[in-house]
Amino acid sequence: MIIEPRVRGFICMTAHPDGCAANVGEQIAHVRERGPIDGGPRSVLVVGASTGYGLASRIVAAFGCGAKTVGAFFERLGSARRPASAGWYNTAAFERVAAEAGVGAWSYNGDAFADEAKERVLDLIRMHLDGSVDLVVYSLASPRRVHPESGEVFNSVIKPVGAPFAGKTIDARSGALGDARIDPATAEEVEHTVAVMGGDDWRRWIDALDSAGVLAAECRTLAYTYLGPEHTWPIYRDGTIGKAKEDLQRTAEELDARLRARGGRALLSVNRALVTQASAAIPTVAVYLAMLGPLLRERGTDEGCIEQMDRLFRERLCAGGGIPVDDAGRIRLDDCEMEDAVQAAVAERWEQVTDQDYRRILDVEGYRREFLRLFGFGMPAVDYGVDVDSEVAIPSIDG
Ligand code: NAD
Repeated sequence: MIIEPRVRGFICMTAHPDGCAANVGEQIAHVRERGPIDGGPRSVLVVGASTGYGLASRIVAAFGCGAKTVGAFFERLGSARRPASAGWYNTAAFERVAAEAGVGAWSYNGDAFADEAKERVLDLIRMHLDGSVDLVVYSLASPRRVHPESGEVFNSVIKPVGAPFAGKTIDARSGALGDARIDPATAEEVEHTVAVMGGDDWRRWIDALDSAGVLAAECRTLAYTYLGPEHTWPIYRDGTIGKAKEDLQRTAEELDARLRARGGRALLSVNRALVTQASAAIPTVAVYLAMLGPLLRERGTDEGCIEQMDRLFRERLCAGGGIPVDDAGRIRLDDCEMEDAVQAAVAERWEQVTDQDYRRILDVEGYRREFLRLFGFGMPAVDYGVDVDSEVAIPSIDG
């Protein structure tokens, strides 16, 4: 099958197996170039392991720390007529290289919110990780959750709270600047978004692992959050997703108190804003990223998911001594993004973006390139004119 990008709104409906493999290969090469990480985890569970920050976490755990990993995710497998989703191809490539390197990797594909997923992942941990994990990364980003007890369906929305939102957005297909106007969320929509993207499912994973006795004594668990500058607050920090992240923060504090009692930790890591499938759905974030990219590149501090996660493991989790955290107890990886000089430049340029003159300030092409790369398109070494097998298998797949 010849696979081309088919962009609809903020998602690409197709993904390229060789392009995704090349992308994963670059991430693995980055970690290998930086060398082994001493004192890292040995047995790692990553929930949301197939794309974005979760995939990068899994890659650093496996290829930096030499850890065995179990990855859980929800991806679409390919058929002769339809390509698989990017996360499927990413995982297939990750597992192939892991197998060549002799690094154990097992994957579960299914709805992580369901009790069944937790049971199946527990089986994988018992079978392959000697019944113990010393790091659990919770990196889920989902639009929907079926509650495992009530069966209630929650849909998360990206909306402001209290007042309407008006801002600019970039069309990922054409690169055109457009206007986004979103009415404020209802109380029910806030509640739904918290139910999907808040801390409840993270706590349920930790409870399930703990009750099954597979959390190592000093097990750490991490979830990821974002703060960002004021321009993004109406739609992010003060919006529905921000409410969910407040709940995640409360969950981190509660889990931390529990795990600390036995030498473990539960922490949030504040990561920088990056183009991922999840962030592409947030209107103003695309404009912000197209502005931020050139500013960070000028300063030599631009990072992708893999650079961020490499820094997380190498310089925060495994640096020896205590894990450095901010006043609110969070790990900070958004330092370069939030630097005063960078944000002063963002504030100045933000006012200059007009419908006529935006390409001078925004790296729209860079944004689109990054977006397409998420789906394996635009990788330099890949020949997109060649017929490829769309039914690539994930060697270990369960689910
Ligand atoms: P992403 O869309 O790249 O990854 C989401 C992952 O969740 C994928 O592996 C997907 O398969 C999995 N998933 C989704 N629904 C699932 C389900 N029902 N069951 C099992 N797996 C499911 O997202 P991302 O941007 O890497 O986000 C991960 C975390 O990082 C989120 O908490 C997000 O808020 C946070 N974060 C993101 C950014 C950013 O700019 N992208 C910045 C800071 C923090």
